[in-house]
Amino acid sequence: MDISTSEALFARAARVIPGGVNSPVRAFGSVGGTPRFLSQGEGATVVDADGNRYIDLVQSWGPLPLGHVRAEVVAAARDAVGRGATFGAPTAGEVELAEAIRDAVPSIEQVRLVSSGTEAAMSAIRLARGATGRSRILKFAGHYHGHSDALLVDAGSGVATLGIPGSLGVTTGAVADTVTVPWNDRDAVSAAVSRHGDELAAILCEPVAANMNLVPPSDGFLAFLRDAADRSGALLIFDEVITGFRLGRAGAQGREGVTPDLTVLGKAIGGGFPLAAFGGREEHMRHLAPLGGVYQAGTLSGNPVAVAAGRAQLELLTDAVFADLERITTALVDGLRTAFADAGVEARVRQHGTLAGILFTGDDPVDLEGVQRADHDRYARFFHAMLDRGVALAPSGYEVLFTSTALDDETVATVTGAARAAAAAVG
Ligand SMILES: *Cc1c(COP(=O)(O)O)cnc(C)c1O
Repeated sequence: MDISTSEALFARAARVIPGGVNSPVRAFGSVGGTPRFLSQGEGATVVDADGNRYIDLVQSWGPLPLGHVRAEVVAAARDAVGRGATFGAPTAGEVELAEAIRDAVPSIEQVRLVSSGTEAAMSAIRLARGATGRSRILKFAGHYHGHSDALLVDAGSGVATLGIPGSLGVTTGAVADTVTVPWNDRDAVSAAVSRHGDELAAILCEPVAANMNLVPPSDGFLAFLRDAADRSGALLIFDEVITGFRLGRAGAQGREGVTPDLTVLGKAIGGGFPLAAFGGREEHMRHLAPLGGVYQAGTLSGNPVAVAAGRAQLELLTDAVFADLERITTALVDGLRTAFADAGVEARVRQHGTLAGILFTGDDPVDLEGVQRADHDRYARFFHAMLDRGVALAPSGYEVLFTSTALDDETVATVTGAARAAAAAVG
């Protein structure tokens, strides 16, 4: 039997790239099958190496709220690269992007640009430790903050767990100061704060959890974290790498009305290029080198091409655009709910503003354990049934649906039709 171009490329890739991919989630490990090699994007769609077109609900996992190949973003990047891809010296564009971020995000007075969300979260932690003179970090099971050692801590369940590395190669020493508690569990947070309070440098969370499918904070939970941080003297850090410039211009902090001390940004701020940032009040940010003693640096930090694309995208992301993104997300969610109901399939299509997620479960999980109880095998079958019908979902039931303003009522209707057939097919 003939193999597809994607299959041939994946076989070649596996010989020179471990697992054939440069980031593990791309490998279809949890859904099975061969990843499609993509060759082109256009608005809400992508085309694979065999020429198949898909409606793309992955959108590179978050950087593209306006869809692929948005003309203004492409033009800005093209113009910048023609003037010099990188200088290793300050540029005007960095100042303009920093000002745009400051103007949009209420808690940010100063911001440092870096190249990935991993780097931004790691640096924010170092800054929190340097600024407070404390070492411990409180984080939540199932929240993802990139792959730096201290933050790769396995999801502990029940009581607060201290330091179990989530990867080989991470020493117990590297995670000894990372305390993990269940999301939305006030008692666990209170217990951890009373036990470690005067050693806590930071309480770190995704304000709307979007790396364990979609699990919004329960009512008042973010304000409770704000209070817990204030009582203990820890800094509250919101990792808004997904929620920033997606839940709105001011991110989750604007939408939920809780102000963190430090904010981590990534994905959407780069317009599809490697760009991320962390920021906060001047009193904290001044601890960074060259002003202060917290070292942080990067050869490609504030890269001119990434900055130009990011600026162009942020300029386009007005309040009206986010209202439009929420409207189209709601239409998609409504369509999917109808499709599952018609097929008689037990599923929850959850929505929080512009974020949505599909879970095959009968209840609404509030933490990682609840998400783990969903039927992930059924998700894998649904994923493939959708892919066969021309709709690309994330290859894992722990991800959200990434919508973009490039979706329209027609593409939503196509996705709904595919979902009805796919749900009926997989049961
Ligand atoms: C994607 C993500 C990161 C890591 O960003 P990279 O650019 O992949 O390093 C960190 N935090 C959150 C919330 C993310 O979704």
